[in-house]
Amino acid sequence: MSFHSDLIILGGGCAGLSLGMNLSKFGEHTPKTTILEGRTHYTNDRTWCFWGGFGSDSEEFVTHRWESFSITTSKARVTRHCKETPYLMVSSQDFYQTAQRLISESPRIDLKRGNLITGEIFKRKGLWHVSTPLGEYSAPWIVDTRPGSSPLVHSSPASNPMLWQSFLGEEITTEGDLFDPGCVELMDFSGSLPETILFLYVLPFSKREALVEATVFGPRPLSAEELAEPLKSLTKNRLQGLHALSGRSEHGILPMGTMRNTGQMKQPAEDLGNDPSYVHAGLMAGGARPSSGYAFQRIWKWSQACAMALATGKPPRPHPHDHPLTRAMDALFLRVLSSNQELAPDLFLSLFAKVKPARVARFMNDQGTLSDCAAIMASLPPTPFLLELATAAGLPLGKRKSHVP
Ligand SMILES: Cc1cc2nc3c(=O)[nH]c(=O)nc-3n(C[C@H](O)[C@H](O)[C@H](O)COP(=O)(O)OP(=O)(O)OC[C@H]3O[C@@H](n4cnc5c(N)ncnc54)[C@H](O)[C@@H]3O)c2cc1C
Repeated sequence: MSFHSDLIILGGGCAGLSLGMNLSKFGEHTPKTTILEGRTHYTNDRTWCFWGGFGSDSEEFVTHRWESFSITTSKARVTRHCKETPYLMVSSQDFYQTAQRLISESPRIDLKRGNLITGEIFKRKGLWHVSTPLGEYSAPWIVDTRPGSSPLVHSSPASNPMLWQSFLGEEITTEGDLFDPGCVELMDFSGSLPETILFLYVLPFSKREALVEATVFGPRPLSAEELAEPLKSLTKNRLQGLHALSGRSEHGILPMGTMRNTGQMKQPAEDLGNDPSYVHAGLMAGGARPSSGYAFQRIWKWSQACAMALATGKPPRPHPHDHPLTRAMDALFLRVLSSNQELAPDLFLSLFAKVKPARVARFMNDQGTLSDCAAIMASLPPTPFLLELATAAGLPLGKRKSHVP
């Protein structure tokens, strides 16, 4: 069987479905779209959180909100109120359901599940061709959101540090009251794992129910098996002797680095250069914020802009480049973290204790002002940052324990 459309979206996860939903809003101007997704059905496989209060319509998916958060180190615990920019949660189960409903209501978008792309993707006479075991698909435009297909490019390893954020989470129900349902426990540095930064992240849903997650920033991605022991030990510590029942679990690996997003596909065979009709998008193609790995909001924002371009006859758009100041701050922060893991608890405590939560939220949501950036820099201890800047400038000021690849 062969199918032709205006646009093929490869991968129907967060980015593919976000684009599908935003395209469906354009009615008869929606380009005829086929989404090819490998999964046969969707499961509740992830929990997305982000700082809200910025008027994004993605907040319609929110199922939980917290108006305060805490950071805990061996020395102190800081709790901050963040009513203005609450911490919001989207359950992937609800997101996938809503996306499938909205997409099925559009006569111009077809979500084809169970369609694993295995064959070569090539362009002939202005049309891209994609083959799956269920058929041959062609279109003049492609948006490729398959995480494995993205060309992660480091323009210069020395100036583009890279950490991996790996996490394993589990929903638990405790036998007695333990959590404050109004306060998300953003970082609890009560454990350690050699050569990495380890903390517990807790999303409390009630006094007895929470998602507890062992999170590691490190030089390489960690499997669920490798994270099982840290999760067990951090959870045991947090339970303070209470018993708990385990439920659903989730595992994730996010890139933290200032990778350059090439966005467009290079086609050496036909010497097309960067072909604007084939765009990479999603987590591994510029969707993740370098310093945090957060991607949900950035992907949603990109999908709105990309849908608008496509619905007005323009080629698909890749993720935009980050502002140079944001990029420089993210790069410096990651270099300091890479070289000084032992400082991480104090750095985060200082940042969240001294800077107004709304400033941090704006910065994390790519909306930081110059004064937000200045407040963030002023909150951090200057020595490691100056040493890192000096090292980057080639001044030999002491030995670094760098994990920069
Ligand atoms: C457990 C977890 C928790 C996360 N939590 C947060 C969070 O709290 N906040 C935040 O901002 N970000 C979070 N993220 C990061 C990010 O938001 C998600 O990874 C997001 O799903 C990325 O979207 P994506 O479309 O790029 O990738 P995915 O959602 O993974 O979608 C890719 C899709 O491509 C499909 N696919 C792959 N290969 C093929 C193929 N060959 N043929 C057909 N289909 C294919 C996959 O089946 C999948 O559906 C989390 C990630 C994970 C894994």
